[in-house]
Amino acid sequence: MTKIKIFTVGGTIDKIYFDKKSTYQVGDPKIVEVLQEANVTVEFETESIMQKDSLDMDESDRQLIYEKILEDPNDLIVITHGTDTMVETAKTLAAIPDKTIVLTGSMQPARFKNSDAMFNIGCAVAAVQTLPHGVYITMNGQIFNPAKTRKNVDMNRFEKN
Ligand code: ASP
Repeated sequence: MTKIKIFTVGGTIDKIYFDKKSTYQVGDPKIVEVLQEANVTVEFETESIMQKDSLDMDESDRQLIYEKILEDPNDLIVITHGTDTMVETAKTLAAIPDKTIVLTGSMQPARFKNSDAMFNIGCAVAAVQTLPHGVYITMNGQIFNPAKTRKNVDMNRFEKN
């Protein structure tokens, strides 16, 4: 049976906001709840590598993500990641052979009612089962090649460049 390994590394998708203090924490990964609520029947396993805003990630974080995925025995990989440097991490992973790796995240925390998280996770779970080996980003209802993608910060969306 098909099995998907899901790595979580943080980002807005997992943020919890504290309005009075005007601050946030990257909380526990929400993806398990999202997949359970959607009654997903594909087998999956999750592993949290870190809980960081991706703007706080550095080269050593990306190296750790690279190594974790390289040594993982599964070939279908989904990563939930902050959107600001998702393209950078995706490019780092391009050297990994024989796996389909799909990165996704959300502009609004999964804990928010109007979040794009559920939709983006759904796209990633479908994409990882159908795409050939390689690294992809699923955001805004599209599948992007990281080598030709950027986040348009003003429009709050991913675009081909
Ligand atoms: N600053 C956040 C991050 O990249 C933005 C997001 O996830 O949408 O982690």
